[in-house]
Amino acid sequence: MDKRLVVLGGGESGVGTAILGKQKGFEVFVSDFGKIKETYKQVLIHHELDWEELGHTEAKILNADVVMKSPGIPEKAPIVQKLLEKGVRVISEIEFASAFTKATIVGITGSNGKTTTATLTYEILKEELNVSLGGNIGKSFAEQVSSEASEVKDKKNYVLELSSFQLDGIETFAPHIAVLTNLSPDHLDRYEYSYEKYIASKFRITMNQTAADYFIYDADDVEIKKWMEKHPIKAKKLPFSLQKEVNQGAYIKDKKIILTIDNTEFTMPIATLGLQGQHNTKNAMAASTVAKLLGIRKETIRQSLEHFHGVEHRLEKVLKINNVMYINDSKATNVNATFYALDSMQTPTVWIVGGVDKGNNYEELLPLVNEKVKAIICLGVDNEKIKKAFGNVVEMIVETAGMEEAVKVAYRLAERDDTVLLSPACASFDLFTNYEDRGRQFKDAVRHL
Ligand code: ADP
Repeated sequence: MDKRLVVLGGGESGVGTAILGKQKGFEVFVSDFGKIKETYKQVLIHHELDWEELGHTEAKILNADVVMKSPGIPEKAPIVQKLLEKGVRVISEIEFASAFTKATIVGITGSNGKTTTATLTYEILKEELNVSLGGNIGKSFAEQVSSEASEVKDKKNYVLELSSFQLDGIETFAPHIAVLTNLSPDHLDRYEYSYEKYIASKFRITMNQTAADYFIYDADDVEIKKWMEKHPIKAKKLPFSLQKEVNQGAYIKDKKIILTIDNTEFTMPIATLGLQGQHNTKNAMAASTVAKLLGIRKETIRQSLEHFHGVEHRLEKVLKINNVMYINDSKATNVNATFYALDSMQTPTVWIVGGVDKGNNYEELLPLVNEKVKAIICLGVDNEKIKKAFGNVVEMIVETAGMEEAVKVAYRLAERDDTVLLSPACASFDLFTNYEDRGRQFKDAVRHL
């Protein structure tokens, strides 16, 4: 058995893995190249774990039997390269922790919609099952596994939000139900700028599944379709589609979701969903397919879908001022997410956009911007590209230097019944700590108008 566990990275997944590792009899060493947050340090001390920060003690790390690499550490980091050269097993938290639980696992991945779909799925399941939410959301999965009671009365379930980085580090992990929400280019810097490699990474969620498992996916997504034509999937396939009828899975007819699994059917009018917008209809289809597979009653699914009003920073309604709705979609850090935000706008929109450009191609937004956007407020370092992309379709393009100014300009430009939308399509690291900080600053500025 592997005895010496080294954990690279002292964040949420690292600390959780360390706790679980120690509980399972490993000799654990946590090493972080940067500074470990004070709260995590306290947890490490409390659990009497061996740790270091601000550097790696190579000899100790290279001596490991198994290494858990936190998702934020790129494979090309020198210490990881050295481990791989030496042939040491380098795995992710999900791989490590899933070996210690018998729970049913729902794994949710995709370029956009992971958090929304995972949270929505959890909200439905928790009405009738013993279920926890983890992965990229909230408390580390490994830590949750470490606190599973040894005598569980109800069978345990996990809904896990899985990034491609978590999936890169799996060897045997197989979710009983896998969901792939969609694909669009993101994080390509971690995949040698190869979209193919990024897609392959997402599909790792299916690689260890068997015919007893399920794979739920967006059948309208051309990249998903292309990949599946070339690579067989062993799990039972349950597609969802806005565009065409499917035999098994979910589709739309007469403005209703129709979900068929074997001989049972679940229906729900789109208008009654708590979350509006085409992308959220897809998220609702994916979540209800999972719920139906796990035996949740139709009425419970309907009620949960009606009552779920979303996650902070994802098309979050902030305030209505002078009949202008202010919407915070700060989590839209890529063009595809912003596409769906603009697509769901019902009234003329003052659009706050910009930040750190990730090699964005704005072309696919042109028709929507032409139809819906009356003014653009640029907020970020990379404004030139935005001005060039939309200069011909939007007359009013204003550059601003900070959130407060951007919101004030939006307030001046918006007229009764318009919408002000923050949906940056860019990363936030120029003016803000992260997308949460950006969203909060937006909300504060709106509330102070
Ligand atoms: P993730 O966890 O994958 O980043 P989120 O649920 O946090 O996804 O949503 C990120 C952004 O993408 C938000 O702006 C949200 O409105 C948008 N979004 C949500 N679901 C989808 C979807 N199915 N397709 C495209 N964009 C989506």
